[in-house]
Amino acid sequence: MTRQFELKELIRPDNFIDGQWRAAADGARFAVTDPATGTIITQVADSGPADARAATDAAARALPAWRDLLPKERATILHKWNALILANQDALGALISLEQGKPLAEGRGEVAYGASYVAWFADEATRIYGDIIPQQQHGKRMTAVKEPIGIVAAITPWNFPLAMIARKIAPALAAGCTVVAKPAEDTPLTASALVLLAHEAGVPAGVLNLITASRDHAVATVADWLEDSRVRKITFTGSTPVGKYLARESAGTLKKLSLELGGNAPFIVFDDADLDAAVTGLLASKFRNGGQTCVCPNRVYVQAGVYDKFADMLSRRVSELKVAPATDPDAQIGPMINIRAIDKIARHVDDALAHGARVLAGGRRLPELGPHYYAPTVLADATHEMLLCGEETFGPVAALFRFDDEAEAIEAANNTPFGLASYFYSQDVRRIDRVSRALQAGIVGINEGALASEAAPFGGVKESGYGREGSKYGLDDYLSIKYLCQGNLA
Ligand code: NAP
Repeated sequence: MTRQFELKELIRPDNFIDGQWRAAADGARFAVTDPATGTIITQVADSGPADARAATDAAARALPAWRDLLPKERATILHKWNALILANQDALGALISLEQGKPLAEGRGEVAYGASYVAWFADEATRIYGDIIPQQQHGKRMTAVKEPIGIVAAITPWNFPLAMIARKIAPALAAGCTVVAKPAEDTPLTASALVLLAHEAGVPAGVLNLITASRDHAVATVADWLEDSRVRKITFTGSTPVGKYLARESAGTLKKLSLELGGNAPFIVFDDADLDAAVTGLLASKFRNGGQTCVCPNRVYVQAGVYDKFADMLSRRVSELKVAPATDPDAQIGPMINIRAIDKIARHVDDALAHGARVLAGGRRLPELGPHYYAPTVLADATHEMLLCGEETFGPVAALFRFDDEAEAIEAANNTPFGLASYFYSQDVRRIDRVSRALQAGIVGINEGALASEAAPFGGVKESGYGREGSKYGLDDYLSIKYLCQGNLA
């Protein structure tokens, strides 16, 4: 029988190192708050370099035995972990909503989404094939085998506190690596709950270690992993500046890196699009998680012939979105994660208005609900001088740009250092072929707003990073290839 936990049993305020819950070495703690109310949920361990080192020591001790398990033995443990995550979907979903703020239905959805990666990589563990290289010389046999890369350090953001860490830990464990992990300051509790369930599923002591840290301590704590030559890989999801910093600072020990970084996704609506489908797709991709997703459309390009109609259809639907705390069962948009996030959204909207944008929906903070709420917003007449064109707004703001022809739309869409997701709507098969080849992005949604799947390769190009998560490619990031050359056989 798969064990079910109460929400309060899932809340663990300590680090998990070598199979044990431990306070930070110096006893420090920081507060985790509910973004809807500002109420303190609990105080968690505020780790430093000594805790990072203890986690690496444990991961190093556990590596040989974990690496030597049969793949199907690792798969069995991962499948148990998946079953436990799903059995605790309600409590985990509530915990995500409590510390991150997304509506309860989205919190539950994230649990299923994160678990899907665990199930996927449990199966993939048993499919790590090498190659027998066609013979080049008599008496010599050449083969290529794949081996776990070693200790993996996983550093994750707050916007998907379960899914982002699950889709790093699952392939690492499947490949035979051991893990040290640090979740974001704002959302450490979901990660700790996930680790609790992994332990319950039979992940041995030291194979998976998690330390929590405040923003003030994060740099020094993670630096210990960056400098430690035993850590062979960094897998990071977060902002582009931090990704670049990690690449620079880990260069001394030449670690392998997977960097899932920021985006600035274009969403193009051509004159020949199905407008109902385009509005529905934009609502799903732009307003999910209050617009706090890396694949959120940030720039909506609408062709002149349908611009006014599309703007009208969209702003009607956006005005109907219900903004409320996650605990309200009808909530569609919750609070933003913190006051810095709200201030950035307000700065982007104010700047757009100063440059001539018009508000078609929203366009204001919602202090009547609390300091972290912003009304879902549609802005018309957006231009490339505006701040929201150049950087992720990471909030519920859809800015509509007008364009005349296909070449102009593609040029504008690609005119960014980023290249994570992109979207376009058209019913012309030749245009679909042309535009999907022309867009510079790791992910292209064609007449579709919901793109993520454990079976698909997720990742970016340009300054959105490198490496892929999910799919048959996702394990490669945690493996190295060894070439075996056996001679004197004849
Ligand atoms: P962030 O500031 O880069 O933080 C991400 C993680 O890195 C957090 O755990 C953070 O800890 C830690 N961190 C920050 N500075 C660090 C440093 N100097 N040394 C070591 N660790 C450091 O990103 P965020 O604001 O949490 O997340 C939003 C960003 O993530 C957006 O840009 C979004 O597009 C991107 N994202 C990308 C993907 C993708 O798959 N490509 C998915 C989701 C999100 P603290 O929390 O303590 O600061």
